[in-house]
Amino acid sequence: MHTDFPHRPTWAEIDLDALAFNMHSVRRFVGENIDCMAVVKADAYGHGAIECARRLEAEGTSIFAVATLEEGIELRDAGITNTILVLGGLWPGQTPLFLDHHLTPVLFTLEQAEEMNAAAAERGRQMNIHIKIDTGMGRVGFRWDGFAEVAERLSKLTSLNIDGMMSHFAVADDLAANDFTNTQLSRFDEAVKIAASLGTHPTYIDMANSPGAVAHSNARLGLVRLGGVLYGLGGDVLPAGIDVPKLKPVMSLRSRIAMIKTVSNGESIGYGRTFIAERDSVIATVPIGYHDGLSRALSNKGRFIINGKFAPVVGGVSMDWTTVDVTDIPKASVGDLVTIIGKEHECEIKAEDHAKLTDTISYEITCGIGPRVPRIYLGGKN
Ligand SMILES: *Cc1c(COP(=O)(O)O)cnc(C)c1O
Repeated sequence: MHTDFPHRPTWAEIDLDALAFNMHSVRRFVGENIDCMAVVKADAYGHGAIECARRLEAEGTSIFAVATLEEGIELRDAGITNTILVLGGLWPGQTPLFLDHHLTPVLFTLEQAEEMNAAAAERGRQMNIHIKIDTGMGRVGFRWDGFAEVAERLSKLTSLNIDGMMSHFAVADDLAANDFTNTQLSRFDEAVKIAASLGTHPTYIDMANSPGAVAHSNARLGLVRLGGVLYGLGGDVLPAGIDVPKLKPVMSLRSRIAMIKTVSNGESIGYGRTFIAERDSVIATVPIGYHDGLSRALSNKGRFIINGKFAPVVGGVSMDWTTVDVTDIPKASVGDLVTIIGKEHECEIKAEDHAKLTDTISYEITCGIGPRVPRIYLGGKN
């Protein structure tokens, strides 16, 4: 990001103090005896993995997770020294890079384990790995029901040290589905016992994501894996009606009015003429569009904050521009601040609000903020 570059005024503010606040808040909530892994995959859910990981490491985070080898190397190159778990497995040709960068793979097939074992043996190294057990998520993992045989074979791979065992919940956010969550927990417990019977005692045994950690105290085990709650998301991912830690949104999305004009009653705005003015109207054009991560599904639906008032989106969200009705905000002028996500005066729009209007979850909103939107970091200690 070129902060000294006179760029288009559309940016995301990342409040690193809020990130640190959330981390400590959840830590206190789950209990100081529970370790907290910071999940910073997908560029920290769109917030910027390097800056977020640096701040979290400074605040005491000792274990991180990313999705891909590339994401892990990016963090190592940025000076993150603590454990980095790569959740996305191992792909052909990657073993030397895992070894070079001291990244810890999460493995879920015997082929991966054998390949990693051979590569570690060749260098005379003992390699820490975590293994994933599929207890009902049905995505990746050694299946719980065939694990005894797998564990036997894994125990023969002497250059691998199984430092972690993990599984992943499918419905931790839905308290009505607690039976399934508990079934997953007992399947996982069974797998951990099988490993123990073969002499494998991992440092880390973990199942809980954000909703698991917050809503299921019996699922915290020794370590919880936190993504969404660190970024202050969860209004739509944590179950309603339970005690939750206090969280602050970390990302705000802002822009400025590029142009203002008056259109007459009956004129249309935008592609497809989906908005027809029903009065003489003042329309502001804002330089943000769907490439920036503002969903096209917000056409004629979303709203922005301008001068402390809500301005409805009128017409279609296009690739680079969005139009809003500011007829009722008479002072609106070119250059005025526009808040797309965030707080301004008494008004607030959350990622969760965008998610609700576009039939998704808040995670997809922040992850989807496009690469041409510069991230501006607020808060100390970086
Ligand atoms: C993404 C991910 C998490 C984090 O989930 P949140 O709901 O964001 O806390 C935890 N564990 C695994 C395996 C994941 O892929």
